[in-house]
Amino acid sequence: MHAWKVFLPAAFLSITVVSAQRASLSAQDAGPQNAVPIERLVVIDAAHGGSETGAMLNPAVPEKDVNLVIARRLRQELTNHGVLAQLLREGDATLTDDQRAAMVNAQRPTLYLSIHSTSLGSGVTIITALLPGSASTRGFFLAWQNAQSSWLPQSRLVSTLLTPSVQRWGLPARALLAPLRPLNNITSPALGIEISPTNGNILQLASVEYQQRISTALSNALVSTLSLLPPRPGTSP
Ligand SMILES: [Zn+2]
Repeated sequence: MHAWKVFLPAAFLSITVVSAQRASLSAQDAGPQNAVPIERLVVIDAAHGGSETGAMLNPAVPEKDVNLVIARRLRQELTNHGVLAQLLREGDATLTDDQRAAMVNAQRPTLYLSIHSTSLGSGVTIITALLPGSASTRGFFLAWQNAQSSWLPQSRLVSTLLTPSVQRWGLPARALLAPLRPLNNITSPALGIEISPTNGNILQLASVEYQQRISTALSNALVSTLSLLPPRPGTSP
């Protein structure tokens, strides 16, 4: 008798959980018209754009174009993993840092990624915001410059987990604190991702094979860390 008293509630609980999972799966199978809460959204921002070219990696390859190609590939890889991923700019638009931050903050993503590329360094540098001053300082300008402060612990957590995970996927990776705008204006977990060649040759950044290698490593590393972040406001856990 004693054994039944222990077993029956456990069996009931297990059936309840399986039923809930089935209900959730059938809701997803039903397609977008049956609104399933969007739990995780990654906004990928190809830095620079339009008249703002970023670094000229070589005379023919401006940084803004490399960033956009990598951002598109990363979106595809994340989508393949079932993660909702959106680009901040689809084309060659000129956007200020303030415009980017306002667009991202309206979206309230699970994670914001600002993609840069450079001839310096090797592999992937994962940047978290270095805030310009004390978050307690009053005044609108300083509050805007420190908007990231409440999300900085989550940003640092993702950076701490992502860096060794990218390394496990075969790329050099390091974490860095830097005053990289608009990270400090973002009211979500936010990282800069700076891509460098691994062979010292800047042309590697323009190679499809290397761009895909970067995107695959980053997406796999991201998928394993995204579930640790809280769901977006207004969605189910
Ligand atoms: Zn850049």
